[in-house]
Parts: sequence; C-alpha cells; structure tokens
Amino acid sequence: MTQTLETGTTTQERVDAWLADFEAALAARDAERAAGLFATTSFWRDLVAFTWNLTTVENRDGVADLLRATMESTDARNFHTTEEPTEADGVVDAWIGFETAVGRARGHLRLTDEGAWTLLTTLYELKGHEEPLGEARPMGAEHGANRNRVTWAEARRAESEELGRTREPYVVVVGGGQGGIALGARLRQLGVSHVVVDRYDRPGDQWRSRYKSLCLHDPVWYDHLPYLDFPKNWPVFAPKDKIADWLEFYTKVMEVTYWSKTTCRSATFDDSTKEWTVVLDRDGEEITLHPKQLVLATGMSGKPNVPELPGQDVFRGEQHHSSQHPGPDAYKGKKVVVIGSNNSAFDICGALWEVGADVTMVQRSSTHIVKSDSLMDLGLGDLYSERAVAAGVTTQKADMIFASLPYRIMHTFQQPVYAAIKERDREFYDRLEAAGFQHDWGDDDSGLFMKYLRRGSGYYIDVGAADLVANGDVRLVQGQVVSLSENAVQLKDGTELEADLVVYATGYGSMNGWAADLISQEVADKVGKVWGLGSGTTKDPGPWEGEQRNMWKPTQQEALWFHGGNLHQSRHYSLYLALQLKARHEGIPTPVYGLQEVHHLR
Ligand SMILES: Cc1cc2nc3c(=O)[nH]c(=O)nc-3n(C[C@H](O)[C@H](O)[C@H](O)COP(=O)(O)OP(=O)(O)OC[C@H]3O[C@@H](n4cnc5c(N)ncnc54)[C@H](O)[C@@H]3O)c2cc1C
Repeated sequence: MTQTLETGTTTQERVDAWLADFEAALAARDAERAAGLFATTSFWRDLVAFTWNLTTVENRDGVADLLRATMESTDARNFHTTEEPTEADGVVDAWIGFETAVGRARGHLRLTDEGAWTLLTTLYELKGHEEPLGEARPMGAEHGANRNRVTWAEARRAESEELGRTREPYVVVVGGGQGGIALGARLRQLGVSHVVVDRYDRPGDQWRSRYKSLCLHDPVWYDHLPYLDFPKNWPVFAPKDKIADWLEFYTKVMEVTYWSKTTCRSATFDDSTKEWTVVLDRDGEEITLHPKQLVLATGMSGKPNVPELPGQDVFRGEQHHSSQHPGPDAYKGKKVVVIGSNNSAFDICGALWEVGADVTMVQRSSTHIVKSDSLMDLGLGDLYSERAVAAGVTTQKADMIFASLPYRIMHTFQQPVYAAIKERDREFYDRLEAAGFQHDWGDDDSGLFMKYLRRGSGYYIDVGAADLVANGDVRLVQGQVVSLSENAVQLKDGTELEADLVVYATGYGSMNGWAADLISQEVADKVGKVWGLGSGTTKDPGPWEGEQRNMWKPTQQEALWFHGGNLHQSRHYSLYLALQLKARHEGIPTPVYGLQEVHHLR
C-alpha cells in the first residue's frame, strides 16, 4: 500500500476520503461543494451515467453546471474503489464503482494534491435489466415434459417471420458492418427488438468487397467484438476475408436480427407519433417498418469522395474510387495513377507494384506515416498487446484507460509517443522526405490517433509500401489534379501522367451525408457534421466540442443516432448507445444534459 509522506495517509485512504466527500456533497445536492473537490484545471467525462449523453465538462464551473442539472435525477451513491489505487508522479489513479437511481456504473479517477484532475463515469447496466450473462445465462434446455414445447430454432424462425410483418422492431439499424453487428449483439442481449439491415448479400461483405490485399491495420487485441474475443490463434492483423467470415459467424451466434440484401430507401420521422417510417427494399420486396429509434451505422468509409474533373468523360482508360478497386491482378504492366497518399493509396500502390504495374502516386497534401511495428510497440503496446494482457490490461480495461483520457488533453499524452517514434525511425523519415514526400506529424505533432479522432484521415500505417515510394519503385508526383485527357491525368503545373487506370484514393465524406440521402437535407443540416472534436486543426474546425460530434449520443434530431468507427470504438461505444436505446425502450427517463449544438453542416 503506497503512503503519502507528508500526510501519512495511504493512497487508498486519500481516494476513499475524496469519494466520501464527493458522495456527501452529492447527497446534500451541493454542486459547488462537489465542484470544489476538483482541481482548477480538471475534466469530467461522463458516458451516460449522469448525463444520458457522452459529454466532457471542464474545470469547477463545468462540473458545477453538470451537477446542478443532473445530480437530483442521477442520485449517485455507494462510490467505492474496485481495486487498490496506485500513485506515480504525484497523480493517484483509482478505478471506481458506484450506482445511480437506475443503473450501475464504473469509472476512473485521477487525483492530484489540488483535487480531482480527471474523472470518468460510465454506465454499464440498468437495474432490473441486467444482461443474461454468467450465472444469469439462459438455460437453453427446458427440462420436463411439455406438449407445447417450442425449440430454440422454432422460436428464432417465428421471430424472424413476425418481425416487420406483425410486430415492429423498436430499433432499425441501417448498415450491417462491424458497427451495426456489434450494436445488434448488444440489443439482443438487452432484449430490445431490432433489425440490422444491409444491402450486401452476407454479413462481412463490406470487408470482402475491399481490395484483395487488405489486412486490418489494427492488431487483434484492439479489435475484439463485444462478448466474444477472437481465439488465441487469431492472427495479429486479420486478412479482410477472415474478418469478414468472423463477422458473419458472429452475427449468427450472437443472434443478431440481420436482414441481408436489404437496402434502406428512405426514412421519415413523424413528430406527432414519435415514430419513423423506414422504407426498405428486401431482396426486391418493399417493406415499411415503424421503429421508434433509427441508427445510421452506414460507415465512415461508406460515402466515397470522388473529385469531379473535366475530362473524366473522355478518359479512355478505367477509373474508380479506391473503395471500388478490385485489387491489382488485371493491371500487370499497366500504367496506373493513384490520386492520394493516405492508407488506401499506399495499400493499393504496394499491391499494384507487386504484380508489376507501373505505378505513380499523386500527393496533393501532406500525410503522416508511422511504421506499423513502431505504432504497435510504442503507440498501442501498453494497452493492446500480449504484453498488456500479461500485465493485467485486458481489452476492457484498456478501453476504459483510453476513455479516461479527456480529448482536450489527449494530444499531450500522444506527443511524446510520436517524438519517440520519430527518433526510432529517423532514418526511414529522412529517406521518405529525401524522396520528396511531404510528411507531417499532425498540426501539433500528436500523430495518428489524434488525426483519426479529429478528421478520420491524413495518415498511413506503413506495412511496407512507404519504402517503395522512398526508393522510387512507386513514382511520387506532387501536385493538384486539374483534369483528365483521353489517356492521361493532368496536373496544375502542366505535368501529364499517362494512365490506363486512375484510382481516386480521395477518402470519404461525413456520415451526415447518409442522413441527407436517406432522410432529408433538412435533417442532415439540423444534425450537422458527424465526427471530429472541434480541435481547430486541419479539417476539424472549432469550436471545441469535447466529444466526437454526433457519435453514439443523442443528436438534434430526436430518435436519430450515429454509430460506427473502428473496431475498438464499435466495441466500446456500442455499449453506451445500446443502454441509451434500452432505457428509452423501457420508458426510463433519460434527461439529456449538454445536447450538442451544431456548428458545421458537413
Ligand atoms: C481500406 C480500409 C482499411 C481499413 N482498415 C481498418 C482497420 O484496420 N481497422 C479498423 O478498425 N477499421 C479499418 N477501416 C475502417 C473501416 O471502414 C471501419 O472500421 C469499418 O468498416 C467500419 O464499420 P462500420 O460498420 O461503421 O461501416 P461499414 O463497414 O462501412 O459498413 C456500413 C454498411 O452500411 C451499409 N449501407 C450503407 N447504406 C445502406 C443502405 N441505404 N441500406 C442498407 N445498407 C446500407 C453498407 O452496405 C455497409 O455494409 C478500414 C477502412 C478501409 C476503407
């Protein structure tokens, strides 16, 4: 047990005292007193426990404001530590648990001499609606004699026949990629009737349809789905078709209600009935559903940005967006121009070079590159690796540690990591820059994760293709593409690049474009931009939002939600989205604190 020298108290006693003071102030409904327990510069991140929102408040004023609005209805109590706190560099780290009027919650506290520096509070279950897990798992078999016995398969069949015909689902999730599937699994566990619809033929087809060389860039420890970890022999970086098969299998074993070959055509919300009308094309049959909640899990990488260029109609070769790129096989010996210099561009260039295509990459703006080995070791190793697991950092714990870092200061934790990577791979970066590649580390040198969270683009996790650019095997050209001719791509400075194939590796648009397509432009504008933090850095305009815009939390359009992100985010945040939906399903009051304002349309 660590002991604080000056006071003679242990870290455990310090944390216990803080929690007791906090609880007493809450019980007295004294927001100012509770806020006084925080440091002058402090952050409280709440995921649904107090606010029915994902929100971060800052400093004592922010804490007091949050509490004035929420403490009565939340009625939080029984704060306690869930393991022995630790102390390093003057900061005490404590894992905590507590309960609210309607649920059970856990979180994390960082204490300094001045008070709470960071507090994370997260709801994980609703009282009376606990998930049937462990001791509470379903029996499966029904022992005894029963003339009206209904088997599991019969019950499943009956449910699928009724749903959408004689019984409405409470939630429709549009998009059955990993996001929709993970949410569907959680809704099944929570007993919320749902349908996940996807236009593809089979779960996993989102991954099957991508270019053939693709493997996950994130390692297995980062990628587990809710409830069911990958087996111990799962590869570190899963090939795309393997992850696709896993998603298909997972959909089945987790009993997600999943309609394949089903395209959502439109959705309209009726303010008086508080119901959506969702029109679907299910393998040629038109079906209209009336759910109370609509989730768009249509993918951050779903709305391709394809530049409109003069001459695209006269170009005689082939041209497609990276999302349509089939892989390199048909392009051996062909001249290929890949426009863009981020992940997809590099992966595609590398695979084309391997089959003997003549490849040119057009870089339009600078890119951040980090070598996969270095990222795994220095960026993710302490949280998501075999080393982390051996040290007791399970994926769930790692998710909570990650969540405990407020976005406002997350870059300060990232900067030293990327400084170390820069040092370790100095020779690599020197070669890349000598080849004329424009490289950056993010506006404030905070690297890849911050770029991902802020703008979802602008980087490449190098698995080998960067060397091809550095040594000239893949030709690198800088410039802006202005037009296409019959056989070439033309740049602003007059450069002509002959091409049989042009690949637009030009990224994806904001997810609220899906709201415009499926619902209306009016609703898309009402909801505003999806993703980003408002950091004021490139492609993430301010003002500061505190959380990712519109993701996994209430939006300005009642009963409309956005879900998605990488496998880590799909896993972690699907819990909070599922709990928000479940609470509404059960008629539990969900007063939302700090509903996000809209500052940008897209
Ligand atoms: C090349 C590439 C590499 C990537 N590598 C990684 C990685 O290593 N790790 C990682 O975590 N992420 C990676 N990603 C990001 C990846 O896109 C997401 O992690 C993942 O696919 C997102 O899942 P999702 O469920 O949010 O969206 P998606 O997988 O895009 O699924 C969205 C689904 O919505 C469906 N849909 C859209 N509109 C409709 C409609 N109107 N009706 C019915 N269905 C509809 C689509 O058919 C699609 O299946 C990569 C992405 C790309 C493009």
